[in-house]
Amino acid sequence: MRINREAKPQEKCEVSGCDQDSERSISRKKIKEAMSWTLKGDDSRALLCKNHYREFKKATKEDRKLESLRR
Ligand SMILES: [Zn+2]
Repeated sequence: MRINREAKPQEKCEVSGCDQDSERSISRKKIKEAMSWTLKGDDSRALLCKNHYREFKKATKEDRKLESLRR
């Protein structure tokens, strides 16, 4: 039996110009709404690396904060 340790390819972050390993997959629509990133691929979900995921989370959090202030 042959065990291939490299059978699982590491997928990359799908933000254009970023070459980090992906950490999370996020709804592509939500990313487009919150960020002005150019995304590779055209799945319904896009892969983000740790850094881009953090930026995305930060941006969406600030959105929520603004919304509650408006009320
Ligand atoms: Zn990235």
